[in-house]
Parts: sequence; C-alpha cells; structure tokens
Amino acid sequence: MKRESYIGWDEYFMGVANLSAHRSKDDTSQVGACIVNQRNRIVGIGYNGMPYGCDDNEFPWTREGGFLETKYAYVVHAEANAILNSSTDLEGSRIYVTLFPCNECAKLIIQSGIKEVIYLEDKYHDSDVFKASRKLFNAAGVKMTQLEHYTVRITTNEGTDKPL
Ligand SMILES: [Zn+2]
Repeated sequence: MKRESYIGWDEYFMGVANLSAHRSKDDTSQVGACIVNQRNRIVGIGYNGMPYGCDDNEFPWTREGGFLETKYAYVVHAEANAILNSSTDLEGSRIYVTLFPCNECAKLIIQSGIKEVIYLEDKYHDSDVFKASRKLFNAAGVKMTQLEHYTVRITTNEGTDKPL
C-alpha cells in the first residue's frame, strides 16, 4: 500500500537546504540553499561559509567591529555558493533558501536565470537590503514564495531544530 505520510517536493528540497545550513560554522546565522531544475533534480547546494582556502579558524565570524574584523568582509552566502557550486545551466530553476535572500544574492539569482525563490524565514523583511531584493525580484519577474507548513526537523547529537 502506498504511504500517505511522505513529504512533498517543497518540504523535501527545503529539508535539503535546511540540512546544508547545519554545515555552517557561523554561530549567529546558519543559512542553506538548494537549487532545483524543472525536472525536480537538485542542481546546486550551498551554505554560508568562508571562501575556498580561507581558514574557518583564522577568518572572523563576529558581526561587531571594523569591517576587516567582521565576517561581512569574507563570508560567501548560501545562495552564492549554491549557484557557484552548480554544474549546469540554471535557467528556469528555483532556489530553496532557509532565509530570504539579501540584495547581493538577489542579483546573482536573477542573473543565473533562477525564476522562483522559495524561502522559510523572512526576519529582516523591513531592512533596506531586503527591500532592494524584493524590488529586484519584482522587476525581473522572479516569483517569491514563503513556504508554509514546513514540518521537517533535523536532529543531531546536539539537538533538534527549533520550529521556525
Ligand atoms: Zn546573500
């Protein structure tokens, strides 16, 4: 008999994005991304982290202080990593992200041909960075969809995800 309790595509791919976020070394923000093509195949995956060859232990993770002392100067966002890690044309694909994309990632998403952003959290909705993202997505015709009814929880030895 066919199971009734299987998870749908949206929960499946957001679950992959969520799992990817668990790879992040950032203690204040863990973000994951998963790019899926029109055939529901995963074509890119990423999380926020330092660039290749830049030691996680030597580069700063702090948000406070002068620019050079903060993570903002160095970290690659999950969406950027997912786009750069993909090995195929992303035209017409969609990206699952655990947090609504910043304006810099919005530019990359648009330029890569991604046509829909499916996100969980939107905690910085009213800041200018995210207003710029929405302005860009609206102009470029990128659909924005907040995923509701996300029920996947990832459990590690350190604990279980808090419900979003
Ligand atoms: Zn970003």
